Amino acid sequence: MIPFEYLKPQSLDEAISLLASHGEQARYIAGGTDVLVKVKERKLNPQYLISLRRIPDLAYIRRDPEGVLRLGALTTHRMLEQSPLIGRHYPAIRDAMENIGSVQIRNVATIGGNICNAVPSADGVIPLLILGAHLSLVGPKGKRSLPLKSFFLGPGQTLIEPGEILTEFFIPPLLPASGSAYFKHTRREAMELPLLGVGLYLALAEDRQTCVKARIGLGVAAPTPIRALLAEEFLRGKEINVANLAEAGKIAAQETKVRDSIRGQAWYRREMVEVLIRRVGLKIMERIKSS
Ligand SMILES: Cc1cc2nc3c(=O)[nH]c(=O)nc-3n(C[C@H](O)[C@H](O)[C@H](O)COP(=O)(O)OP(=O)(O)OC[C@H]3O[C@@H](n4cnc5c(N)ncnc54)[C@H](O)[C@@H]3O)c2cc1C
Repeated sequence: MIPFEYLKPQSLDEAISLLASHGEQARYIAGGTDVLVKVKERKLNPQYLISLRRIPDLAYIRRDPEGVLRLGALTTHRMLEQSPLIGRHYPAIRDAMENIGSVQIRNVATIGGNICNAVPSADGVIPLLILGAHLSLVGPKGKRSLPLKSFFLGPGQTLIEPGEILTEFFIPPLLPASGSAYFKHTRREAMELPLLGVGLYLALAEDRQTCVKARIGLGVAAPTPIRALLAEEFLRGKEINVANLAEAGKIAAQETKVRDSIRGQAWYRREMVEVLIRRVGLKIMERIKSS
């Protein structure tokens, strides 16, 4: 590993000015579970790692009186996994968190790092995508917010500008009679990145059967995480049952840009999109019924 200096700013302003003064030689680090692996493998050779961990108030899970959920970017996967608020109202997030790496990884790895790393297999992305999350960023040019759905440009590429720090995710209020779930499809039960990640958010009408809103998120189904917009449109106004979920799965499979990879073949991923959308949809119906 090439030696580097580890800097510990105490505020966002200090972190931003440190990065500005060291330029390309510097990199932000949160939990370090992605960055340090790359440094060790010499895929990344920063002279300075600027830690975000000492900056106050970047790790929290809060819900406003208006029902907006706010997650600090430095919130760890373990904090999310163990939060009763997340477990009760945003179960897709818990589904994803409890299957990331090991407990040791989840204790340090952050939700902000998972999103900024921008790999198609990131488990944290899909639940936030289906819940309609937005991001708050602060950088040399000031503050801005943008929807997560437009954040990713390609593998490892995002709209984040040089020096910007992701500070928060905010999720709009949930609709009544709504529920969510995420399923990480892997080849084996051990610590592994997903072969496919499928998440759904469904909101039902008063009859608790007709879909008023559907969001379908797919990971490892394209170069970036995607929403299956045509399948979502198909479900709107329809009864959520096995037949309609199966049809939505077929439509969603056509919306993917899956490819063959070491973890699985494209045809298999496409078929599993169909299977898993049905399965995840039925799980949400059970969750809504029992809530
Ligand atoms: C053994 C192992 C198993 C793993 N298993 C999984 C898995 O099952 N699923 C999965 O999705 N991931 C997995 N990962 C990957 C990794 O743990 C996650 O992507 C993690 O969420 C990264 O968070 P971090 O805080 O460690 O990021 P870091 O490594 O600190 O940072 C990642 C990138 O984001 C940037 N960054 C971090 N925070 C910010 C911020 N607030 N603002 C701006 N830029 C920022 C950094 O500069 C860096 O480029 C695994 C990793 C390991 C080592």
